[in-house]
Amino acid sequence: MRPPPAVAVVGAGWAGLSAALALAEAGLRVTVFESAPQAGGRARSITLATPLGPIAIDNGQHLIVGAYRETLDLLARLGAGPLLQRHRLHLVSTRGLSLRAAPLPAPLHLAWGLLRADGLAWGERAAMLRMMRALRRARWEVLADETVAALLARLRQPASLVETLWAPLCVGALNTLPAQACARSFAAVLRDTLGAARGASDFVAPDVPLGALLPDRGLARLRALGATIRLRSTVRELRPSSSGWRVDADESPFAALLLALPPWSAAAPLERLGVDLAALRAFVPEPIATAWALWPAGEAPPLARWLMLDEDPARRRFGQWVFDRGVIGAARVAGVVVSAASRIEDNPVEVLAEGVAAQLRDAFGAPAPSAIRVVTERRATFRCTPGLPRPACDHYAREAPGLWLAGDWAWPDYPATIEAAVRSGQRAAAGIIASLGVAPADQGLHAAADPT
Ligand SMILES: Cc1cc2nc3c(=O)[nH]c(=O)nc-3n(C[C@H](O)[C@H](O)[C@H](O)COP(=O)(O)OP(=O)(O)OC[C@H]3O[C@@H](n4cnc5c(N)ncnc54)[C@H](O)[C@@H]3O)c2cc1C
Repeated sequence: MRPPPAVAVVGAGWAGLSAALALAEAGLRVTVFESAPQAGGRARSITLATPLGPIAIDNGQHLIVGAYRETLDLLARLGAGPLLQRHRLHLVSTRGLSLRAAPLPAPLHLAWGLLRADGLAWGERAAMLRMMRALRRARWEVLADETVAALLARLRQPASLVETLWAPLCVGALNTLPAQACARSFAAVLRDTLGAARGASDFVAPDVPLGALLPDRGLARLRALGATIRLRSTVRELRPSSSGWRVDADESPFAALLLALPPWSAAAPLERLGVDLAALRAFVPEPIATAWALWPAGEAPPLARWLMLDEDPARRRFGQWVFDRGVIGAARVAGVVVSAASRIEDNPVEVLAEGVAAQLRDAFGAPAPSAIRVVTERRATFRCTPGLPRPACDHYAREAPGLWLAGDWAWPDYPATIEAAVRSGQRAAAGIIASLGVAPADQGLHAAADPT
């Protein structure tokens, strides 16, 4: 019997891992190349060295919501479901906003929640409902090349509501300021969260670092399925040949090759192939900084599970959200998120940490943390601006048959998110499986899989 076709997956972020799992479960011989010593890419675990001992945490606080259908399905299939706590939407801020979804079917959950909300004037509640209604009537379509700021102005949203709610949601979801952000992607986020079934806007908080969700379980499952995992392997050269794709000096050819890389990393190996890189070059990276604040576990202040902070860059208050991560080792840990961080890049880390300590003091009366560790991901996401091209997974099918793309940027209309990465990985895997004439895997089989 002939061995099944071999497929190379370059990149073991959430896009690459979700694709590799689908390919391996379909019976293909999968090799994963990953330049880092661990999987997970931009959503991975790290260990912080702190005065309170080493702390296993994430490279940045990630928010998963109920709308992350494919991500949550994948995690459930890998047995990670019990590690996730689901919370009904509750937007709460230091400005006095408290908006909790009611335990009612959509759209009553939001309407009733708005009726009962604190910190919103009646005119603001009406404006919010008006905007959701207008978007729904327009089937969540907006004007071509419209920014979020322009959309909010067109739908007559009061400045106070923009400041309290829409701007923090836009920056949090798109990692882009409203004046630059893509209204189409913002509308897609609203469509699939506040505008969808009640559970879609749930906050899903993992009890463990991100690595314990997909990266560790995904790699274990891949190994169990016979896949080859090559960590610390940066792919530099791709060579098409009559027998398939060759990767660097690797001798064995691959029937298909999936580049599951961010656009700025994918450009390098593609350049030598002479293919058109315009679709990749349109993407500009945008940083996110996460300030991890630590107190000795016994002396920790009472913290909200999450809270929207009052951002005020003029007073060096840069954080927009804080998430309590509970007690880890000897420390209580809270993550303060600074999105759209390119505008504050000139500030030294100490200034950022001082501002974060002040925000925590103002929000909770918290004593000064024993330590604040700032982790800045300079290429956290792409800046989600209007008119970005979203290449399909088979974008290069004509120029380079057998070469496929995946990644958070390759999913139509979403900002850079875990869900976009997982969906694009699965779509690319389905395309590869179909192109190689392999029967798709039986979902029931992987539903039973738990590699731990
Ligand atoms: C601080 C921060 C906070 C975020 N917050 C959220 C959030 O709250 N919610 C949310 O949904 N999303 C969030 N995101 C975005 C989310 O993490 C990304 O959208 C997602 O992880 C992208 O996955 P990916 O697989 O497309 O790309 P990546 O994770 O970038 O994976 C690509 C992989 O390819 C590897 N690689 C690169 N070049 C090569 C090469 N030549 N050869 C081999 N390997 C290579 C990289 O090491 C990497 O592991 C956040 C990101 C950051 C950094």
